[in-house]
Amino acid sequence: MSLRSLFIAAIVFLFQFSSAQTPRTLNSSEIMLGIQKLQVVGSVLYVAAHPDDENTRLLAYLSKEKKYRTGYLSITRGDGGQNLIGDEQGIELGLIRTQELLAARRLDGAEQFFTRAYDFGYSKSTEEAMQIWGKEKILSDVVWIIRSFRPDVIITRFPEDNRAGHGHHSASAVLAREAFLAAADPTRYPEQFKYGVQVWQAKRIMWNTFNFGGANTTNENQFKIDVGGYLPLLGKSLGEIAAESRSQHKSQGFGVPSSRGASNEYFAPVLGDAPVKELLDGVNSSWDKLEGAAGITKKIDEIINGFSYINPSASVVPMVRLYQDIATMKETYWRNLKLKELASLIESAGGLYMEASTLQPYAVQGDSLKVAIQIINRSGIHARLIQSRVDYADSLVDRELKANQNLNISRTIFVPESKIVSQPYWLNEEMQRGSFEVSDQKLIGMPENKPAFNAIFVVEMEGVPITFQKPVLYKHTDPVKGELFNPVYVVTPVSVNTSPAVILLNKGKGATKNFQLTTTAYATIPRSDARLVYRYGKTSESSTDTSFRLNKGLSKTYSLPVSGKYMNGMEKDRLLASVEYTNEKFNQANYLALAQINYDHIPAIRYFYPDGISILNIQLQTAGKKIGYIKGAGDKVPEALEEMGYQVIYLGENDMQLSTLKQYDAVVTGIRAYNIHEWLNAQYEVLMSYVAEGGNLVVQYNTNSFIGPVKARIGPQPFNISRNRVTDENSAIQILEPSDPVLNWPNKIGSADFEGWVQERGIYFAEVPAQGVKAILGMRDAGEAEDQQGSLVVSQYGKGRFIYTGLAFFRQLPAGVPGAYRFFANLISNPNVKVNGSAK
Ligand SMILES: [Zn+2]
Repeated sequence: MSLRSLFIAAIVFLFQFSSAQTPRTLNSSEIMLGIQKLQVVGSVLYVAAHPDDENTRLLAYLSKEKKYRTGYLSITRGDGGQNLIGDEQGIELGLIRTQELLAARRLDGAEQFFTRAYDFGYSKSTEEAMQIWGKEKILSDVVWIIRSFRPDVIITRFPEDNRAGHGHHSASAVLAREAFLAAADPTRYPEQFKYGVQVWQAKRIMWNTFNFGGANTTNENQFKIDVGGYLPLLGKSLGEIAAESRSQHKSQGFGVPSSRGASNEYFAPVLGDAPVKELLDGVNSSWDKLEGAAGITKKIDEIINGFSYINPSASVVPMVRLYQDIATMKETYWRNLKLKELASLIESAGGLYMEASTLQPYAVQGDSLKVAIQIINRSGIHARLIQSRVDYADSLVDRELKANQNLNISRTIFVPESKIVSQPYWLNEEMQRGSFEVSDQKLIGMPENKPAFNAIFVVEMEGVPITFQKPVLYKHTDPVKGELFNPVYVVTPVSVNTSPAVILLNKGKGATKNFQLTTTAYATIPRSDARLVYRYGKTSESSTDTSFRLNKGLSKTYSLPVSGKYMNGMEKDRLLASVEYTNEKFNQANYLALAQINYDHIPAIRYFYPDGISILNIQLQTAGKKIGYIKGAGDKVPEALEEMGYQVIYLGENDMQLSTLKQYDAVVTGIRAYNIHEWLNAQYEVLMSYVAEGGNLVVQYNTNSFIGPVKARIGPQPFNISRNRVTDENSAIQILEPSDPVLNWPNKIGSADFEGWVQERGIYFAEVPAQGVKAILGMRDAGEAEDQQGSLVVSQYGKGRFIYTGLAFFRQLPAGVPGAYRFFANLISNPNVKVNGSAK
């Protein structure tokens, strides 16, 4: 093997993660911080349950002050949390929170890992969490990540008991402790060894005690460290870096202020001996521990001492020599990691800029992708570009990189039909209730997919070829936001969507409704027959478009009928549709829908899913016509109301006048409306007047938490919002007020209406009893001594009615739960204006 090919081969690192982001060069002081970090050969893994559980100040301290390789293992992707920035829930929220964690890690310098566990929502016990996740499966993932990451010290955020506050939290601590032992035991999960990992014995595992949420688990006898230091190289206190990092959790509303000054973190020992001075006491975190590393420490010191902030490129020569020395060491975990760190420092010190970009957001199977490659040597160091290639499109260039001259290379690469679409790897296989399925062991732990295409640059400096890898990014310029970089997603030539999400067919009335089937072309589809097929109930329907043709980037929509007569008495079924093309290039795939999630603080997210429609063939009575909806944090309740036949008008601050409100049969507030709209505070009087004069005000849940406690008065009789919830979506329901209209008119609500609910019964219940407030239902989770009664409270006021409900209608209605439609129809049907049993 020649020296050159040896170096090229060395770029394949175990557990190398990369994430798409705007390319940037480190400035002089960041380069210095990186050189200092080269000296440190130690690592720490922090373990908790959710995105946002992690202690970003401690992570920043470990990564940037102590300069350890630092990782955060979040057992879940936070799929079951709330979403303060949009209406995404479940796996979509998990995708957003995955990217928020990666954005946070780019700031605090740690790396990110996940297990296959699905965040199924709030859990009250470790046992429930473990049982739903599948303990052995998730434990094997934690062991795998420990064996791959090889942390010297493991830190948990939570204790194993109920001071953790959430079953996922306590379970994460149990998993970390058991994995600490199992990772070092060759008899545990031995099937992992064939994928390149070895047993790993971390030195110790500690619990990072805390003082928040009313619980103080710290004390002065515990091991403590000051993590409030100032980093002059960055001009920031760790508390400032931590705040920037934490404020990336925008979907959770976790923007926090910066802090400066001394601040202690406390640790209680779990296993392994307790440290005295440093977290890594007893761990050799220098190069001495590595074979063949004699002299490396000294060379790094020399680079530090000779470093010029005015001209960092003067350090390129000694850095390249160091690279050569490390590269000739035996291939080990640390050798590979430090080579990667050093290559990136050489790149920045040399003012090198390498970019591979395309103007196409999608790489389409069977189509081509034009890639622009740019490299520039802005410092004028001696450097040659020996090779640049994009995946299989090889090209040898061997050109001198002249000072500050752009070298542009354009490549058009063919995207084979066999190129795998860019589906997030954990969504590729059908998931279990509590976990994702990932058969490829090597993907487990990774935060996201590797980039679809990479550009390889081999640059020779001082006779040493160094290989750099850059993801091919979609580059575009927004007139307002400026230059943007996003991942390139590999897609099928066609996607197929259906809408709406739910169709209500009124049983017994022979109703027929239409749905929309839309095909979108990502490559031009030539003239072809397109056969539209859809199945639901007891029928399979099809029709053929004999003149189908679609240009790249365009969509075509068909309107197709569904009828209750094909439901054969079924209350609910899922309609699935497909499009088949006679053109042989496009006839192979069962095309899926392509979801798009776009937020400014994270890269664009795309994923494929089988679109479908919940067809509900139910008896549903409604009263009234017009609903005023005050949007909250984002929910799909208004779409459901429209499907029920209501006219929905969105109301804002300017609509808060009695004469306006009186037009509506009900006024409904979206989830957390009082948390996010300050102006609702001032509208109490007018809303109460609306109720008093015969109106019907329905308030969906608002949170009572540090994120946004409800300051406003909500109902005519004062009541508090608790943090009580019932997470078991199948929990038994006790009817407390059988004769109340909400259970009787216009639909008679019975136990069947509480079947088939998803994720949870409800959250943030009202505190009851409260004067003048009637609790309608009782329910509880397993292990609770008595029913909670605040899920739905009703009070009469003047001629009207006020309702507060923590029941999770915002989940049940989009999920097509029949009983939720019938029940919600009752909440918005105002019995005070009942005329002859129907609308006024
Ligand atoms: Zn959590």
